[in-house]
This record gives sequence, C-alpha cells and structure tokens, in this order.
Amino acid sequence: MYQRLSEYYEAFKESRIKKRRFSESLWNELIQEWAEHPLFEVREIGQTFEGRVINQVRFGIGPMHICAWSQMHGDEATATKALADIYHFLTQKKDQFDSFREILHQNISFFVIPRLNADGAARWTRETALGIDMNRDAQTQYSPEAKILSDWADEIKPTFAFNLHDQNRLYSVGTSPHQSHIALLATTGDAHGTWTPSRIRAGKIANRMYKNITGELPNQIAKWSDEYNPRAFGDTFQSRGYGLLLLESGGAGWDLEKHSLRKINACLLLDALYSIATDSWKTESLELYQQLQTNERCIVDIKLKNAPLQCDNSVRADIAINLKEQIDEHGEIAYSWIIEDLGDMSIYHGLTEIDATTFESVKGQKIEKEKIYTQLQFHEGENIVFQLSDYTAKIQP
Ligand SMILES: [Zn+2]
Repeated sequence: MYQRLSEYYEAFKESRIKKRRFSESLWNELIQEWAEHPLFEVREIGQTFEGRVINQVRFGIGPMHICAWSQMHGDEATATKALADIYHFLTQKKDQFDSFREILHQNISFFVIPRLNADGAARWTRETALGIDMNRDAQTQYSPEAKILSDWADEIKPTFAFNLHDQNRLYSVGTSPHQSHIALLATTGDAHGTWTPSRIRAGKIANRMYKNITGELPNQIAKWSDEYNPRAFGDTFQSRGYGLLLLESGGAGWDLEKHSLRKINACLLLDALYSIATDSWKTESLELYQQLQTNERCIVDIKLKNAPLQCDNSVRADIAINLKEQIDEHGEIAYSWIIEDLGDMSIYHGLTEIDATTFESVKGQKIEKEKIYTQLQFHEGENIVFQLSDYTAKIQP
C-alpha cells in the first residue's frame, strides 16, 4: 500500500503549503476548510500561552482510537505539512483509493493536534512562548500546552499514538557516514525497557515503516536510543499504554525544506492507519526494527581536510563547516555557515569531504571556530578551487 500511495503523492499533496515555515493565516485557512468539511470534526480543546487556539481534527467513526500530534517543537514542521497532505487525500474521491478511505473511515477514529506548539511555530523556536521544551514537561506540565496534550490523550485512550518531530539534520545512522533521514522509536514506558503490549504495538508499526522505506532510503533509517526518560511525552504515554511511536524527520541532503521527507511522512502515516484499520500490522515482527542502529552525531556538512588556517599557509588543520539556519528580516529561513570545529576532525564524516592539502588561503581570510561565514575561498595558484557560496547554491528551493 505504501508504494501505491507514494506513486500517487503528487495528486494529493496540499500544494498551498510550500515551505517548512508557512504563515499563520494560511494555517487558519486550512483549519477553517477542514472544519467545514463533513468528513472532519474540528474542535477547540484549549489555547496556547499566548492565546492561539489548539484544535483537534478528528477523522473517522471507528472503534480503534489513534492519536497524533505534530510540531510540539515549534520549528519542526515537516509532519504538519504531511498531515495537511493526508487531509487533502482523505477529502478526494472517485479514484483508486475510494475503498481505502472508506475502510479508514469505518474502522478507525484518527484524532490529531497538528501544530500543537503554535506559539513556537509562530516565532520558529523549539520551545513554547514561555521558553519551555514541551517534550521535557510531560510530568510537571508547567506549560499549558503540555497539560492540554496530556488530558487530551487520557480522554481518547488511544491504542496507537504518533509523536511527530524533526531532528537535527546532522544525525548519522550509528557512526556511519550516512545521514539519518528518518528515525523511529517505540519508546519504553519504564526504566527496564520492558516490551509491554503497548510498546510491541508501536514496535510492529515501526517495523512496517522500516520495510516500506528501506528501498528508497538505504542505510538512512535509524532508531533513537530507548533510554527511559519520563520527562518526555513518548515515554510517559507508553507507560500509560498508548502504543506510542516517535517518528522523526532528519536530514535529506541538499533538500533542506525536506520535501522528500514530507512525502514519506504522509505515505508512511496513511499506510500505518490502513494497517491498523485492517489489522495487518499484527503480522509484523520486531526484528528489523530492533536491528536498526541508533542515531549518533558523526556528521558535518563540509569537511576540509588539511586546509590552511592562515594566509601564509604555514598552519593547517581539518575544518568542519555546518549550515546555520536563521530567520531573515522577511521572516524567511536563510542559511549561512558556521565553522563548527577545527583540528583533528577524523571522528566526523562530511556530507561533502574535500582533501584541501594543496589549497592555499586568500589574503586576509581568517578561519575562526564558531564564526559565521557566507563566503570562504581557497585557491591553487591562480585558480579558485573552493568557494563556500557554491555550496549555498546547492540548497534546493
Ligand atoms: Zn522535536
């Protein structure tokens, strides 16, 4: 089913959302449309600290309760975009997926809080308006948003729950040079890592997700460490028996807007809903999921090996350079570069690795750790052999 959905994606993508950071007015327009559509029930379940409405969108009338939320961290919007795609898909008809939609509608009730931390989304920060990381607030519930999420889930008592995030682009699959595009975690609900029925349900969905995407993302799928962290919602909800699966969108090469991962999220989630609606998830094992390597931080964007640090070329070292995301004066995401570290960088893999042994520096150019750059140049004789701005140009719009 995943493959069929993937091939059909362009026909159901919500084309009004083009970028990770989209406007609040567009979001409100979409919510309004879903509220008016007979297939959905949109209900206000509370407000953020700054008074933004937190909505639940419900689809389906079935006995199997599934919940999901996105953007608990305000600057992690990939899954929110995928949810908009899913709602667009669900409202389409007279195509090859009519019976698919009917099976979902009759068998499951899919409760979603999209864009949960709307204050953080508006300012494009991980934390809430109060500066609280919601995903470390599951027990104390200092933030109003955490209390709303916790009470909401307790009311639904879901059999499956999807906690949808973006993770740092520079996580690697284990210590390999492969960027972790998608990471999964069937969280543990206790300090012993017990495979409770709730965790097994989540693990089987994770196993299915892995099988669905390993062909298109070879060696690019990881799992998170399952060390118990009761401050996190994933672990807390697993302890309550909610079948919780964490799904993280990581990096995707030069696709910084993560168009490819948005598509994968939409198709993975629809396929997961279908497998739950038809009970086919029950035949999954945990084996492939359990074999996944964990996320590690062994990647940098660009690694220059043995590059000159000073203009007389007398001192050389490895230079690790990473993209840095900032919000520009128009509220758009803009990229520059930061020298993350220098010296012996042999523990890191560069997504781009360049042997700079023969490079010469440019007059007046200073290489400084933690300094932000838009341009760096090296040359060999008369020829420019490296320009940092060439790499900025590779970023896909
Ligand atoms: Zn997150």
